[in-house]
Amino acid sequence: MKYSLMVDAYEKIEATTKRLEMRDLLANLFQKTPKNIISEVTYLTQGKLYPDYMGIEIGLAEKLIVRALSLSSGKTEKTVDNAFRKKGDLGEVAATLLGKKTQQTLMSRTLSVSDVYKIFDKIAQSTGSGSIDVKLRFLSSLMNDASPIEAKYIIRMALGKLRLGVADMTILEALASAFTGDVNNKDRLERAYNISSDLGLVAKLVATSGIEGITELNVEVGRPIRPMLAERLSDPTEILEKLNGKAAVEYKYDGLRMQVHISPKISSIFSRRLENITEQFPDVIKYVKKSMKPKEAIFEGECVAIDAITTDFLPFQMISQRRGRKHEIKDMVEQIPVKLFLFDLLYSNGIECTQMSYQNRRKILTEAIKPNDWISLSEQIITTNTEEIEKFMNRAVSDGCEGLILKSTDPNSTYRAGARGWVWIKYKRAYKSELADTVDLVVVGGFYGRGKRGGSYGALLLAAYNKVNGKFQTVCKCGSGFTDNDLKELPSKLESSTLSQRSSQVDSKISADVWFNPYLVLEVSGDEITLSPVHTACENELRKNSGLAIRFPRFTGRYRLDKSPEDASTTKEILGMYNNQLKKISI
Ligand code: ATP
Repeated sequence: MKYSLMVDAYEKIEATTKRLEMRDLLANLFQKTPKNIISEVTYLTQGKLYPDYMGIEIGLAEKLIVRALSLSSGKTEKTVDNAFRKKGDLGEVAATLLGKKTQQTLMSRTLSVSDVYKIFDKIAQSTGSGSIDVKLRFLSSLMNDASPIEAKYIIRMALGKLRLGVADMTILEALASAFTGDVNNKDRLERAYNISSDLGLVAKLVATSGIEGITELNVEVGRPIRPMLAERLSDPTEILEKLNGKAAVEYKYDGLRMQVHISPKISSIFSRRLENITEQFPDVIKYVKKSMKPKEAIFEGECVAIDAITTDFLPFQMISQRRGRKHEIKDMVEQIPVKLFLFDLLYSNGIECTQMSYQNRRKILTEAIKPNDWISLSEQIITTNTEEIEKFMNRAVSDGCEGLILKSTDPNSTYRAGARGWVWIKYKRAYKSELADTVDLVVVGGFYGRGKRGGSYGALLLAAYNKVNGKFQTVCKCGSGFTDNDLKELPSKLESSTLSQRSSQVDSKISADVWFNPYLVLEVSGDEITLSPVHTACENELRKNSGLAIRFPRFTGRYRLDKSPEDASTTKEILGMYNNQLKKISI
């Protein structure tokens, strides 16, 4: 298949903001795709080569791309760089510069999708000394054969910033429509995606074996399952009502979520956003292997940094230092010991457990693990009584936890991969006159600082994620809570996400000094949620021309590097928090 066919579809997708139109354009592209390359086309459309959990990224540095563009256009690096500063998008620069070359010199051969995929794969896989030259050669060879429009997308892909603005759910709908003729089959494809975290695999299965192929997909050790998530409430009576009067109440540990996959051949740990973090936690692999009874299993738990002498829990910031490390891992293991608290079991010795009730999974988990100083099961009580919940909450907080997670004990309390639902409800310690919980918001814009904040940002424009239309919608301008060090680091932290104009994924009525690609997620607390004429989250849902805003937002100091922008708090959650506030006022 010609690469130009994909690029034509991309141009049309980029030109529309309507999700259904995007979906139909994609479905049309998938229908035209030969089945043997459907995975490649799916990954490329996501701006990737492989599923995220494999950790293979293209992400070439801007400098290298400027050099490649200079080579293929015959312009100096300075000219390319100046054009970049003006346009803010190297993809556009490539299209313009190469557009000026004559067609003959430019298109020495017609690029196919497989050519593009294979060359990017070589770029991504080349490592070690001399790899920069190799990458540069491969990229230049692609550029020599590319038309100006193809060059635009090749360059964006090389930067790891394709930014078509197509959400995973839209891709699933397009696949359902293209290969089963019915968009409503998306739910079955979504289940397959949730247990495999691999859209390319789902695409291949549905394209080659239809809906039956999808239904036969099973959980597999080594392939992460998208995590089940909790709703939130701040009143135990209400929580018990939601859970039919009875709950498994557990400590909510404040650490890193881990999905641990072990078999005789595989030892892997995946983070909440399904990155492979095995290398940073060799100690955790050792503890799990030592204490597990089945030969192969998939566990879930929260890993917390602990004080080696007192065994007290240490703040989240401690374990997050270990997560980011690529070097000196041995030292870090000694300096920051960790303990894993297991709370779920998704697979054990050939048996998939996700469709079992929570109490059955917990029973198998209890039998599967021999606890020791470094690994144990999450603290749990089963109760129907709110006073007991409050007592347990006090115990959890004095033991250094954030609060509790209350889980359904119903027979249908299956593991809902990839879903946030009322089967798990988090209950955090509430602060008077403050929001009962923090929210995780995405940085979409910045405002230049003055005075003491000169050279940095005075405030950031923050957004929640609207899952329905895939947009990031603003909820506040936040300038509080940043330490001097945060302020010093913000410009460099945000530099690579800077855009020349507002991203098509961002809905904002406010005009920022600088726009960012939605990427960085911050934890924010605030006083209350109010109606707002200037913010776009939940706009027109409660009142015409009004959205919702967080009043007096403060950065808590926690960068949520474990969350992708799509994992940030959703506009639906903000609406839920607003409605909860109203209920409390009326009581
Ligand atoms: P938060 O920002 O509050 O950590 P989150 O958005 O990461 O939440 P939620 O679904 O809202 O995820 O809350 C569940 C999280 O709580 C899990 O992702 C997990 O990391 C953590 N956790 C701690 N203890 C438990 C437990 N006993 N059972 C389930 N999850 C737990």
